[in-house]
Order: sequence, then structure tokens, then C-alpha cells
Amino acid sequence: MDTIRKIKIDIIEGRYKAISAYKIPKDPDNWYNCPNCNLKPLVWEFDNGRSTACGCGENLYHHFSIKADSIMDIFRRDWDFSKYDSDQLRGNWNNWVGLEIDRQVKCGEILVSSE
Ligand SMILES: [Zn+2]
Repeated sequence: MDTIRKIKIDIIEGRYKAISAYKIPKDPDNWYNCPNCNLKPLVWEFDNGRSTACGCGENLYHHFSIKADSIMDIFRRDWDFSKYDSDQLRGNWNNWVGLEIDRQVKCGEILVSSE
């Protein structure tokens, strides 16, 4: 089964703890599966934030999330949109999954920054 189809089924079956603003990433095959719930993350990217949602957490509004700098964070800090890394959220997520596997860290205990 292809990845997007599997994610859609997981969404329909209610496995994700995510409001509908979270969408399937453009390149889901390049995102690792969560080591705790085994789902690919959904992503919410807007001007003031970027974050992930998977099946980990209590409910739609209180769930585990990996974050990345938003375009407004970059603009406020550097005044330079060329420093915006559109792939940073995926990098942070995959880093976190790698750490989780290496160190057996429990879901939600750490947030990975790209810096
Ligand atoms: Zn998870």
C-alpha cells in the first residue's frame, strides 16, 4: 500500500491525535515513522509556527509535537527570508526519531532543535 493511502486510512480510523489543520507532508516517504505509535507524522505549517502530530498524546488538543522555526521567527531574528529552511521540520522530526531509537527516550521528554 502506498504511504499516502496508509496515512489517510490511519486518519479516518482515528489513530492521529491532531486537529484537521494538520496535513500529510508532501514527501511522507522521507519522514520516519514515530518509534512509539509507528505513524508517519502529520504537519501543520503556518506563518507563526511549524509542528508535527502523530498518535502520541492525550487528545486532539494536547499531543506530542516536534517543532521548527516559523517563517516569522526567522524574519524577527534575522530579517532575512533566505535563512528560512523549509525542510527544517522534517529534519527535526527525523533527528528526534533517531535519538529515540538510540537512547530509548520516552515520547515527549525532549524537543530537538536544529541548532
Ligand atoms: Zn507517535
